[in-house]
Amino acid sequence: MSSTFTLYLKRKGGSQDSAQKAVTLLKTYLPEVIKKATGFSAADAVLVDENASPALLETDVIVYMVRDVSKSVIAKKGGSTAMAEANGNILGLTDLNLKICEVYFDRMYDGSPKELSGACYHEAAHILSNMDNSLHKDQNGFLKDSPDYNGSPTDKNNEFVGKHLGRKLSMNAGL
Ligand SMILES: [Zn+2]
Repeated sequence: MSSTFTLYLKRKGGSQDSAQKAVTLLKTYLPEVIKKATGFSAADAVLVDENASPALLETDVIVYMVRDVSKSVIAKKGGSTAMAEANGNILGLTDLNLKICEVYFDRMYDGSPKELSGACYHEAAHILSNMDNSLHKDQNGFLKDSPDYNGSPTDKNNEFVGKHLGRKLSMNAGL
């Protein structure tokens, strides 16, 4: 049995151009994750329009991109963005209970697609592993505390995400 893992980026705010370029970068990162995963033969990254709600597989991930923390989807659903409000260096948040990942476009340096793609990868790792900031411990590159989104995800990063691929998430694409 083999299946495809898809990482969706739903743009509710921020630059369309940056989002498209971030998706292009994610398409280059994900095959390395697939190599470390079992039960998956392919991966894709897809940009989703604000008003679209793609049908997700239960193992897919969707990350919401909002203009800034005041537009938080997590907050709209009753979650807390206190961590992001307290630290302007945090580019995104994942609420493990609400099963929502989001990234804040205004925090990407100069709208950097590199940072945006890295932040999406990082939040996807949180939801896939069901781990809060404890995930950062013993990690490097894209998954450490104060992540470094230059270059590509490290082997260690891809191993971690690959290991957790396949968790049944059933995320909501219609938020
Ligand atoms: Zn994190």
